[in-house]
Amino acid sequence: VQNVSKTYKSAGTALRVLSNIDFSIPRGSTVAITGPSGSGKTTLLGLCAGLDRASAGSVILNKVKLDQLNENELAAIRNNHVGFIFQNFQLMPTLTALENVMVPMELRREKNVTQRAMELLAKVGLSDRAQHYPIQLSGGEQQRVSLARAFSNKPDILFADEPTGNLDGETSEKIQQLLFELNREAGTTLIIVTHDLELAAHTSRIIKLKAGTIQSDLYV
Ligand code: ATP
Repeated sequence: VQNVSKTYKSAGTALRVLSNIDFSIPRGSTVAITGPSGSGKTTLLGLCAGLDRASAGSVILNKVKLDQLNENELAAIRNNHVGFIFQNFQLMPTLTALENVMVPMELRREKNVTQRAMELLAKVGLSDRAQHYPIQLSGGEQQRVSLARAFSNKPDILFADEPTGNLDGETSEKIQQLLFELNREAGTTLIIVTHDLELAAHTSRIIKLKAGTIQSDLYV
């Protein structure tokens, strides 16, 4: 992330939410992004994942400068290299748990999609919920489906926005274990926005934002 700034413009007003953010994250590392509500954490994660574009500066992922890509090229990077766990899960309400997990693999026209999606649901302990729709699942279960979906494209890098937010201690612990297992076993880089100090303490680096700037960048 090189000298990145982001300004949201709407209804004739401009709101600068990130200013001159600079950092570099080596492949395979685990990083927490913390900071008060409104400090720009979700915005920064979205820019890093290619979900939105910076107003100034560059985001470079796997040696590719995201700001130079068109929408199709950006979508290809997201489908092939990036996993994203959203703050509010963002499962598709009209698809079952199994079908939600299958989506990224189907987008890439992969084989044995049903079987592999079932294996991923088993990994997150939800084999018996495969045919349930999101509305029939608890928050923690939806979060685990979201995790299985993010794992399904074997991402080089996984962005997670409050993956343990609003979950009870035991479910948080399970989600945390799954995330770090992915890092250990597949070498997936983890970038996690979190208020959960326990989760942040398990990463190797904590970047703290304050009002859109980096307040501290500490190796744990
Ligand atoms: P939280 O911890 O509450 O999730 P955050 O640190 O993730 O907060 P962001 O969601 O990045 O903060 O928001 C930073 C600022 O940008 C906030 O003031 C927010 O209102 C504003 N903002 C976010 N998205 C948009 C948007 N699409 N258009 C306009 N303003 C936005």
